[in-house]
Amino acid sequence: MSEIITEMVKEKINEFIDRSKDLGLKVTPQRIAIYKELASTDQHPSTETIYKKIKDYYPNISLTTVYRTLETFEKLGLISVVNVLYNAARYDANLDPHNHIVCTVCKKVEDVYDASLTTLDISDKTLGEYQIKGYSILLNGVCKDCRSN
Ligand SMILES: [Zn+2]
Ligand SMILES: [Zn+2]
Repeated sequence: MSEIITEMVKEKINEFIDRSKDLGLKVTPQRIAIYKELASTDQHPSTETIYKKIKDYYPNISLTTVYRTLETFEKLGLISVVNVLYNAARYDANLDPHNHIVCTVCKKVEDVYDASLTTLDISDKTLGEYQIKGYSILLNGVCKDCRSN
């Protein structure tokens, strides 16, 4: 692993280790590596993208292992999953309240910080008998790069 890890990513990894211990999740070098890939990007990578990177330094790891690991992280609330896009889940280590916009051409996923989208006033009629625990909004469009091509 020769790449430069920023202080921010280091901090996130330390937090991840602490939270995993609190949650009773065994912290293995592989799990840290998978989390690190996710924590060091804002590209919302898919399982496959993470797998391809991890394989460079864990050649024996299987796609299934990466898939299961991400699922476990997600269930424990260590990461979040962006709405399933075109049948491939995209993951996010950023747990701050935010939404996403996806380019329907290149499938790029970007963060959207807009307070009006995180504080929606949803009517009781819409909610019915549900007690809402959260929601996410996925905007879609065509990005600047794709529009100019
Ligand atoms: Zn695009
Ligand atoms: Zn995000």
